[in-house]
Amino acid sequence: MSAAHRVIRPSWTCTADGLPWPCTEAQRILRNSDLAMLRQTMAKLMAIAQGELDDTDPAALYRRFLAWTLESDQRCALCGSRRHAAIPGVPPRLIPCDGLRAANTTGELPE
Ligand SMILES: [Zn+2]
Ligand SMILES: [Zn+2]
Repeated sequence: MSAAHRVIRPSWTCTADGLPWPCTEAQRILRNSDLAMLRQTMAKLMAIAQGELDDTDPAALYRRFLAWTLESDQRCALCGSRRHAAIPGVPPRLIPCDGLRAANTTGELPE
């Protein structure tokens, strides 16, 4: 029987193993849900975590909360990277993409 891997706030650690949440097991469980919905949920959580955690690097937060929710063949529409993609509803500043940042400073938001 496995314990539920839930988040403890504001430390953002896992109730079951004390690892930074979402731990590998939490990710595995969460990936069984609808990925588009999951991305939206994780994006919201990431924004909250950014406010509650000290010493947070946006790129590290992105990997922790969102990178694993992308489809395996999903690529960034702007720079072609497989490590991130623009996600609807996610503020561009939370996505570690130089192409997105450049587009954002010129006032053009990508679709
Ligand atoms: Zn866990
Ligand atoms: Zn990119």
